[in-house]
Amino acid sequence: MTIEKESPISRITIKPEKCTVCRSCEIACSYHFKKEFNPKISQIKIIFDPKSADLRISQENGCDLCKNEKSPLCVKYCVRGALNAEKVE
Ligand code: SF4
Ligand code: SF4
Repeated sequence: MTIEKESPISRITIKPEKCTVCRSCEIACSYHFKKEFNPKISQIKIIFDPKSADLRISQENGCDLCKNEKSPLCVKYCVRGALNAEKVE
């Protein structure tokens, strides 16, 4: 039996309008890199100004698209669907 390998991930797409600023993605990302829960080391950043309600989601250069994980952890733990993994065609 041949087992098809999943296509690699090419990028993470972001829909800020779906984000509730729960920060699960930041926690998940820090776990991927350091096995700890520390948003400061996350390579996805939720930048939210409560006064103006401005929200920006930034994917930093250190993101390795979660190599060695079954799927990108930030996407997996974003239950709102604000983050999605796009696969290589
Ligand atoms: S894909 Fe992985 S490494 Fe990249 S931002 Fe998401 S959790 Fe972090
Ligand atoms: S996990 Fe999703 S909803 Fe939560 S902060 Fe991250 S992008 Fe926003």
